Amino acid sequence: SIVVTGATGKLGRHVIEQLLEKVPAERITAVVRDETRAAGLAARGVRLAVADYNAPETFDGLLSAGDKVLLISGNEFDKGRPAQHKVVIDAAKEAGVALLAYTSAPGSLTAALADDHRATEEILLASGVPYTLLRNGWYFENYTENLAPVLAHDAVVQAAGAGRVSAASRADYAAAAVAVLTGEGHENQTYELGGDTSFGFAEYAAELTRQTGKEIVYRSVSAEEYTAILTGAGVPEPLAAVFAGVDVSIEKGELEITTGDLSRLTGRPTTPLAEAVAAALAG
Ligand code: NDP
Repeated sequence: SIVVTGATGKLGRHVIEQLLEKVPAERITAVVRDETRAAGLAARGVRLAVADYNAPETFDGLLSAGDKVLLISGNEFDKGRPAQHKVVIDAAKEAGVALLAYTSAPGSLTAALADDHRATEEILLASGVPYTLLRNGWYFENYTENLAPVLAHDAVVQAAGAGRVSAASRADYAAAAVAVLTGEGHENQTYELGGDTSFGFAEYAAELTRQTGKEIVYRSVSAEEYTAILTGAGVPEPLAAVFAGVDVSIEKGELEITTGDLSRLTGRPTTPLAEAVAAALAG
């Protein structure tokens, strides 16, 4: 089987959707925490398995020899994600899976956000399980799903200076994962994934101006000011610091990806900025 964890998450839903275009539904197992949120998947013939990274026993017998597994990194920052991911890696080793692909972060990223990913990669490599590192760059959706304050203030506020990001859409990264899960020759490979072109936030603001008809500017602030703005808007302080840290990395060019791995894996160009903005404004 092809087994996908985090299948009811935003990336996971894209992965399952695109897998269904390539393989029979009964060959796909969606690992979910809450079955009631996966009724749509079950209705389409996808097999469901209920498991939680926090409960190792829930993975007992879930994986089989020869499976290809996509471990989608979790989002519980305060619960020790490397240990959570190790639960799946241990189960994969025990079962003798053919491949475990992990959604990691760019090798160039030094922000604190990358620490859990580096630790998980180390655990995976030490396990001896055949692996693929999908080092996903930044999602467009990190910005385009948070347009409300931008449109309210006519300003894109970030702490990234003139830094540029090679963003791509979740659907693009999902397509890369599907290519790895359904293709051959991806054992023990590391892919640095990002959009074909990068953008800076002045360009992002200009694109928003073009598509909304409102004059939207980029206001570049310091990391401290950005953290304060986010906490003022209700973002918990540790998370705000993580976001500010990412912007500092963007300013240093750490989220510019120039490998071309993403479009090479998917066989098509990545989603352009204008398209990502249009989709967000339409949605
Ligand atoms: P989501 O938050 O939508 O999905 C996270 C998934 O992880 C959910 O399906 C969630 O399950 C699952 N999960 C979390 N904790 C557990 C657990 N204890 N046991 C089992 N499953 C768990 O994020 P996305 O789909 O957008 O992104 C996937 C991952 O990529 C994120 O979790 C994060 O690690 C990383 N990320 C990457 C970004 C980028 O720009 N490259 C930006 C943001 C995140 P459930 O559906 O039950 O909630």
